[in-house]
Amino acid sequence: MQEKGTISIHTENIFPIIKKFLYSDHEIFLRELVSNAVDATQKIKRLAALGQYNGELGDLKIEISFDEKAKTITISDRGLGMTAEEIKKYINQIAFSGAEEFMEKFKEAKDANEIIGRFGLGFYSAFMVSDSVEIQTLSYQEGAEPAHWVCDGSTEFEINEGSLAERGTEITLHINKDGEEFLSKYKLQEILDKYCKFLPVPIKFGTTTQEEEDGVDEEGKPKYTSVEVDNIINDTNPIWTKAPAELKDEDYLNFYKQLYPFSEDPLFWIHLNVDYPFNLTGVLYFPKLKNDFEVQRNKIKLFSRQVFITDEVKDIVPEFLMLLHGVIDSPDIPLNVSRSFLQADSNVKKINTYITKKVGDKLGELFKNDRPAYEEKWGDIGLFVKYGMISDDKFYDKAKDFVLLTNIKKENFTLEEYKEKVKPEQTDKDGNLVYIYTNDAPKQDAFIQSATKKGYDILLMNSPIDGHFIGHVEHKLDKTSFKRVDADVADKLIKKEDAPAHVLTEEQTTAVKSVFEKAINKPAYRIEVESLSPDELPVTVTMDEFMRRMKEMAAMGGGMGFYGSMPDNYKVIINGNHKLISRIASEENEELKTSLSKQAFDLALLSQGLLTGAELTEFVNRSVSLI
Ligand code: ADP
Ligand code: MG
Repeated sequence: MQEKGTISIHTENIFPIIKKFLYSDHEIFLRELVSNAVDATQKIKRLAALGQYNGELGDLKIEISFDEKAKTITISDRGLGMTAEEIKKYINQIAFSGAEEFMEKFKEAKDANEIIGRFGLGFYSAFMVSDSVEIQTLSYQEGAEPAHWVCDGSTEFEINEGSLAERGTEITLHINKDGEEFLSKYKLQEILDKYCKFLPVPIKFGTTTQEEEDGVDEEGKPKYTSVEVDNIINDTNPIWTKAPAELKDEDYLNFYKQLYPFSEDPLFWIHLNVDYPFNLTGVLYFPKLKNDFEVQRNKIKLFSRQVFITDEVKDIVPEFLMLLHGVIDSPDIPLNVSRSFLQADSNVKKINTYITKKVGDKLGELFKNDRPAYEEKWGDIGLFVKYGMISDDKFYDKAKDFVLLTNIKKENFTLEEYKEKVKPEQTDKDGNLVYIYTNDAPKQDAFIQSATKKGYDILLMNSPIDGHFIGHVEHKLDKTSFKRVDADVADKLIKKEDAPAHVLTEEQTTAVKSVFEKAINKPAYRIEVESLSPDELPVTVTMDEFMRRMKEMAAMGGGMGFYGSMPDNYKVIINGNHKLISRIASEENEELKTSLSKQAFDLALLSQGLLTGAELTEFVNRSVSLI
């Protein structure tokens, strides 16, 4: 038997094109060939189980070897094999409708995966690294003859009698100049570790030497001899393929260590398992996050039937869940997954929704079943929960029941609990709730003390996304707003009934105002005389909540440029009821009047850390002379 033929595509030079354009991910040839070997092995097992194959299955491992001198890489399996007819059918007739379509589509394609996936070119990815490829195969079918196929990467192939004595397939790649880096133990090991670590069929790559007990010596001590044993590179039963009931916490923790050898233990995990309306298994871990969420991304690994596909799961996993670690395995996601496929695929959207729901359920369950433990973990998961609530409405609806607000006394409340707690003291005259927070307790201490004296509770909002979180929650909650504790003097943070008039006359008020205007003499500071309680500070500097948020937004690149260029805008509130202010109002000595005003203003700046440099020096000198 000897046959020559032409691979049935119409363009003569398709392989040079494939080779040239798919240069970026050359290493995936190994994933493709090994997963074909796995498929073939799984098929023979199924045929045997169905009684359609009655021969010996034998040792079903897949072997990968290379020969540096001969420049070959060989992948062999004991799968179902192919007859010559099958080679012609499955290998020669490349699974795409026509070369014209291919030529057209590959121009738009962004990566090798997209082309390989779209056109069923898995096997042909071998030509990215080979001058020629050989197949030796023997089908499981009774009376089948071994077949041999060889192709040099042109559209010409040759098929003749093969030499394989046992059922299975052996693919030999004659590595080309570009592919020489793959003729290395370390390189191959690295690729196998990446793509094949959890394949369901044992994969042998080389051997290792082991000491084995071999009888006893004259003194009766055990003797050892070195034996060569197969080096199996994969774990064929990773935990996500098992039932949760079979697994202990330790198994989950060990698997986590296997995936991320240098990470701290995760906080908890979710075992995913669905088979309708799509197939998905996996284990997602909640890492310890603390306050940084940039470094930890891209840690979820995506598999398809235990073959690693990618750790860029951006379109499969909702954005906010990218902070999680672990694995997702779905046969509904093709091996050659590409960005454009993922964006278009409806399964992917369902997977997205499902994972979000599971994560929400798990957190809700933890909160309900063991609140103290949940609160203890809040420092690590809070950021994640808030991020999720901002970015996903469905998640918000679940998480609103277990998101926690923490006050400066380190007490935690759900949204509902907090509302009930502060309602009596923190409802303004129009029936709106005002939540007061600090983002820097030491710096805002004077304000915190004043607000606390009034019976207000102060929330601690100092994580990187709290600004966004506050905005989002305000938008969701009815008649509720947040105010930073230094947004106004304590008396004015929450507008109660109309404030009583202060003790100064209208004339005095105007006079005090102009004294301070002259003393301060800065356009960014707007001066108001207000009626505050006599034991509040004589002068307070505040920054309006709305203006401050606009500035912050502009600083982060959002909002309008207009606010970014805006100068700071402070309000200087003069306490019309304070003794010192009355004294300034009635002071005859002009110099002392100015001096006292400056002093009161500087004290306000000082309490907020706003007094620095030459102004601080001047304050110190003035204080000395006043004493
Ligand atoms: P796919 O795996 O997506 O079908 P490939 O190009 O990787 O596409 O393989 C084409 C076909 O060649 C396979 O579907 C299978 O029928 C056959 N084949 C490839 N490798 C083997 C193998 N090791 N044993 C048996 N059949 C194989
Ligand atoms: Mg394949």
